[in-house]
Amino acid sequence: MSGHTGPRLAAIIGWPASHSLSPVLHGYWLKKYGISGAYVPLSVRPEDFGECVAALARMEFAGASVTVPHKEAAFALSVGHDEDAIATGAVNTLVFDDAKIRGLNTDVNGFATAFAESFGEEAAKSAPAVILGAGGAARAVALALWRMGAPEIRIANRTRARAQTMRSALKDAPIEIVEWADWANAFEGAGLLVNATSLGLAGQPALEISLEKLPQAAVVADIVYNPLETNLLRAARARGHKTMDGLGMLMQQAVPAFAAWFRVEPQVTAGLRATLEKALTRG
Ligand code: NDP
Repeated sequence: MSGHTGPRLAAIIGWPASHSLSPVLHGYWLKKYGISGAYVPLSVRPEDFGECVAALARMEFAGASVTVPHKEAAFALSVGHDEDAIATGAVNTLVFDDAKIRGLNTDVNGFATAFAESFGEEAAKSAPAVILGAGGAARAVALALWRMGAPEIRIANRTRARAQTMRSALKDAPIEIVEWADWANAFEGAGLLVNATSLGLAGQPALEISLEKLPQAAVVADIVYNPLETNLLRAARARGHKTMDGLGMLMQQAVPAFAAWFRVEPQVTAGLRATLEKALTRG
């Protein structure tokens, strides 16, 4: 960014990126803090990702968010990784400094902050956690729950090999792998359940699951935020579980990214949530 004096620019790179809520989110803060800048969605194919990032850096963008399917590629082409990027092997935030492209993972703390706000700092400590999924987001959730003191983390993923890779990556975490078909048994004695698959996301198959074996005191989180009330959350509420939707994580993971690019620490507020909810219902 040396010598750069114009509006500050950032982007979200995904394939596709067109349905992302992040432009509404960052756009809200840009306006609120009176910053001259813009944040745009860029739908970029995997084979074009490296070239796109290099071009944005040359054009003096401040950085970019990275979403499916580019988070591992973003790790590979960035340097100066933060601890969470190293632990997950995934980067969701690129920061273009003078001569280098820094790679951060803000999903881990994003989930942890949203979780603690919804359920309290101690909520992960009391009983085993169940995570559905073993993709990039599931890895971030597992790391967050481990740090928050989860005594055991049960992972159920359709592709068992991916759950095994995740267990190897998070070496010392207390991860138990559960067969996908056996997830109901994983619920026994659990204190929390997180859906970190893309099941239930608009356009994806539904998450067909019975919560019968989940203890009444367990809390339930879904990181899918479109729709905001997934079938899982609806079913959980009907049984009286405390729940958390995916917007909290989305808003929290954006805070350090916005601060790095636009040099203002933004606030997560009810007004921001209302704006995002409105954007979701507009579709
Ligand atoms: P990945 O593509 O890395 O992982 C997808 C996961 O979903 C895998 O575990 C995959 O299982 C599972 N899955 C997909 N289709 C099916 C199916 N038909 N049956 C069973 N399992 C299936 O994606 P991410 O981890 O990056 O994202 C997962 C979800 O989290 C998305 O919905 C995304 O929108 C959301 N997310 C939300 C965030 C937030 O801030 N709220 C942040 C990041 C992500 P398998 O390994 O077998 O393919």
